Amino acid sequence: QLSKRLATVAKYVPEHARMADIGSDHAYLPAFLALQGKISFAVAGEVVKGPYENAVHEIKSQNLDHVIIARLADGLDAVNLDDQIDTLTIAGMGGTLITKILEHGLAKLSTVTRLILQPNVGEYGLRKWLMEHDYEIIAEEILAEDGHTYEIIVAQPATDPIMYTEAQLLFGPYLVQQQSDVFQAKWQEQLTHLKQSIQHMEAAKNPPLDKIKTFQSEVKAIQEVLA
Ligand code: SAM
Repeated sequence: QLSKRLATVAKYVPEHARMADIGSDHAYLPAFLALQGKISFAVAGEVVKGPYENAVHEIKSQNLDHVIIARLADGLDAVNLDDQIDTLTIAGMGGTLITKILEHGLAKLSTVTRLILQPNVGEYGLRKWLMEHDYEIIAEEILAEDGHTYEIIVAQPATDPIMYTEAQLLFGPYLVQQQSDVFQAKWQEQLTHLKQSIQHMEAAKNPPLDKIKTFQSEVKAIQEVLA
């Protein structure tokens, strides 16, 4: 049984995909998809030995060696162009780390037609990277599970130049339109947090004026979106 978070990522993996799941840990995501017969091939990439061994174990115990291969490597070094990977999933890490993996692996992205990314934090920077590298966001989801809020961003190479506004980068072009309950709760909480931080900073001996200004503009942006 996959978590709701990984099941949502799985939903966006196309039928017969040749996928790479980077930072796969137990390889639960590709294993779930392979057991359903949904994918043709998967690389489960891991940079740390323990999680890599978890992946090897899961693949073996589920008899999925003919579909999934675990590789111990940093980011997209786990992938060869010969693998003809068309779908890339990276889930359960910070947006900055996901961005780094994409940036360092740019050459390996030439065959990839779908990215399914689930940053735990740092969604703004990830969306910005996607925009600057000519990827368009084609779907987004936000969900709550075990007290955490997760966003899933699905992207593909763009045919035309992509220009998102600052608000779209921060809130997500689709999420901001949908305004789901989870979305509203996330940003309400962030609003409260920012306001408290501003109060604390203003009470300091030497208030960090630049930081206060940045936080205030985020407060304004959130208020506009939630209005
Ligand atoms: N993807 C799974 C999920 O969403 O449940 C596991 C997420 S786990 C929190 C993050 C995994 O990413 C860890 O196992 C870690 O070793 C791996 N990781 C971190 N940096 C990596 C990199 N540069 N290349 C490959 N794997 C990486």
